[in-house]
Amino acid sequence: MRLTQTYTQLPAAFYAKTQPTPVVDPSFIAINDRLIKALGMDRAWFDSDQALAVLSGQTTLKSTTPIAQAYAGHQFGHWVPILGDGRALLLGEHTDPSGNRWDIQLKGAGPTPFSRNGDGRSSIGPVVREYLASEAMAALGIPTTRALAAISTGETVQRQEIEPGGILVRVAQSHVRIGTFEFFARQGLNDAVAQLLDYQIERHHPHLIGTPDRALKWFGEVIERTAHLVSAWMQVGFIHGVMNTDNCSVIGDTIDYGPFGFLDSFVPETVYSSIDHQGRYAYNQQPAIAAWNLSRLAECLLPLLAKDSEEAIEIATQTLNAFPGLFKTDFEHGITRKTGLDPSQPKHVEVAMGLLDVMAQNTADMTLTFRGLGALDDQPGTGDETVRQLFDDPQAFDRWAGQWRACLTDLSQELPSRTEAMNAINPAFILRNHLAQRAVDAAIEDLDFEPMRRLQNLLSRPFDDQPEHDKWAGPPAPDQRVTATFCGT
Ligand code: AMP
Ligand code: MG
Repeated sequence: MRLTQTYTQLPAAFYAKTQPTPVVDPSFIAINDRLIKALGMDRAWFDSDQALAVLSGQTTLKSTTPIAQAYAGHQFGHWVPILGDGRALLLGEHTDPSGNRWDIQLKGAGPTPFSRNGDGRSSIGPVVREYLASEAMAALGIPTTRALAAISTGETVQRQEIEPGGILVRVAQSHVRIGTFEFFARQGLNDAVAQLLDYQIERHHPHLIGTPDRALKWFGEVIERTAHLVSAWMQVGFIHGVMNTDNCSVIGDTIDYGPFGFLDSFVPETVYSSIDHQGRYAYNQQPAIAAWNLSRLAECLLPLLAKDSEEAIEIATQTLNAFPGLFKTDFEHGITRKTGLDPSQPKHVEVAMGLLDVMAQNTADMTLTFRGLGALDDQPGTGDETVRQLFDDPQAFDRWAGQWRACLTDLSQELPSRTEAMNAINPAFILRNHLAQRAVDAAIEDLDFEPMRRLQNLLSRPFDDQPEHDKWAGPPAPDQRVTATFCGT
């Protein structure tokens, strides 16, 4: 593997050169063949001793020096001036055949200058969860960091209990967070903020290179990407769980999978994260929190927006004000398409959004409802039973379905083509919490990674019917229900 390192062209305050700490007995538990191919990497290399040595931190490539990135952040609304990669090392960047650069990062490779009291390690549980989640999200078409490989270290880590250790080999177009901008802006280092902005523009927004109002234009694009991301999450019932500004990417990727979860029943107030006592990061709070995070980013950019601070605030506020509308349109259109209706017709949007209310009032399973809807005929009949029985009051669904069918008459679309279009956007399978938990339990208790592999395989084709795996399509039995998810760092 040949890597470059462009982040080190930034001043030294942006990172700390750090060597990984070797582990006793590393072995691969997963290698992501599909991603290796997509990135134009040499698959044969991953079978070499060097690959395991490099990706488990026994040795480093001659071409690059690993670094830990510096960042700060607002955690649960509270300012924390220094966070940084406490258990992650950026090995360098891989360039794919199209010329795109991808960060290759080891998560859990040992302490860094930013580790504070942490051990710099990761339990195998969060490694399995992040591997499964990031690949499931990618298969759903949702912007995300990726998992290139997962490694068992042969060591243990002390968490709530003693657990086996792991390393995730993470791939991302960028690991820059809102918190990276905050780290410099809040120290008054405006030149560094400008340098970081230009780094981002050169790498991810090349059409803005050298434009005079690039800070504002860039900010506008971050707002658009974030609105789209949160909308995409919410269309599949995803709850990030810890949307601190240090876990919020400025290129609009999902990053830092911790105590995330997916909704079974559509209950918009749902919080799974065991550390989120106030429900700050509940499913339905995510758009407001994204807007709050973007305001923190706006504060960092003020000196670059205008010389006069009042004027800069005015410009930033105007741009920020676009967020709620961008989110609303993206989400409403998405939900409308998920019901097979036409987002350009206001009546259709109203009816489609009404389904969310009926689902919420009747604790209907979100994934099964949308998937089931795609198979329903233009006329009510016995076929409706699969969907109506998901609702506490099936007649509430019948009433909604009446409005839906009235809208369908506007479209004159045959059932097979509607089913095909709806199945292409309504997954049959998502990473339900109880499925992730099974894979994690097997990994932690028995170092058994077969459940993880089977689940990853299933979720790599989320839109395909896979009748042999029907039992993984639905919600958990009462005794399998997972009500709390953990960072488990
Ligand atoms: P997170 O909640 O995973 O986003 O992490 C918040 C901060 O804690 C980041 O600066 C992490 O790098 C750091 N951190 C989390 N776990 C560890 C660990 N085991 N050792 C050192 N630092 C950690
Ligand atoms: Mg984080």
